[in-house]
Amino acid sequence: MADSAMTTQTVLSLLTTASDHLREKRFDEARLHVELMLANVLGLKRLDLYLQFDRPLTEDELARFRVMYRRRLDHEPLQYILGTTEFMGLPFIVDQRVLVPRAETEVLVEKALAIIAGMQHDVVHVLDIGTGSGNIAVSIAHHAQRARVLATDLSAEALEVARLNADHLVPGKVEFLESDMVSAVPPDRRFELIVSNPPYVRVADLVELQEEVHKFEPRVALTDGGDGMKYIRLLTQVAPSFLTSDGCLLLEVGYGQAEEATACATTGGLTDVVVYPDFPGIPRVLVGKRKPDPTHS
Ligand code: SAM
Ligand code: GLN
Repeated sequence: MADSAMTTQTVLSLLTTASDHLREKRFDEARLHVELMLANVLGLKRLDLYLQFDRPLTEDELARFRVMYRRRLDHEPLQYILGTTEFMGLPFIVDQRVLVPRAETEVLVEKALAIIAGMQHDVVHVLDIGTGSGNIAVSIAHHAQRARVLATDLSAEALEVARLNADHLVPGKVEFLESDMVSAVPPDRRFELIVSNPPYVRVADLVELQEEVHKFEPRVALTDGGDGMKYIRLLTQVAPSFLTSDGCLLLEVGYGQAEEATACATTGGLTDVVVYPDFPGIPRVLVGKRKPDPTHS
């Protein structure tokens, strides 16, 4: 879209020109994305654009829209451009320091909330490993009043974003720790729940992912640099020693990893292992209980 063609635009003409152009370039959801970017520039709700179709856009509004539009043309995820996304009904700040929260991860949070609801404790201690934007930790803390969450990440930059989200959504309910997996977690701490969506993409598969993902999302959030199973193996081995006797591990796994992950969990000291499907039906969320300690049974 030539800049000159954008100078005398109204809301409707800009929506039409920009979304036609994105569609020609084979972008999905072209109209929706253009509407969301323009609504963001104008400080409006998306549907309110429909009440202002004839509104002429100022030079400043057009300039700000153009910056966003060019980022999208370059395949940057819309969520980074808008700076926000919704997860479990909550608005999370996101940018290139963190993975964009995925819909399938809501399955893990729903399972965690159901397990917490079935526990009798006054306080349920939760450890979230690789918290990223804090989406899992913060939504558990928000939806389960009794949860106290320790959220860790190897990336100090991701922790900055997670802290921002916790500060405005669940102040005082999430504690943060920079840690390579469980290495900085005090060995005497015990948790009723350990949850993680670790990087599980095989390094060789990275280039197969959408440009939005492999070009813009943090590599450390996507892959373990190997076969994708490194952290699933590690967490199924080390988690049981941090779990209370009634504790559970919940792990998000990738396409095709459920069977090996189940075997790892069983040899690692977990029992009653089930892998729940995500909405499209891919086995996605492994849940395992700590095996009863034979000395106490
Ligand atoms: N929890 C977020 C979610 O569900 O959207 C982010 C998950 S992202 C797939 C994995 C996260 O693990 C990233 O934030 C990444 O920085 C972090 N990570 C990668 N390697 C790690 C490690 N060795 N120890 C701790 N965190 C790690
Ligand atoms: N679900 C992400 C993707 O395939 C990967 C996230 C992860 O490795 N946990 O786009």
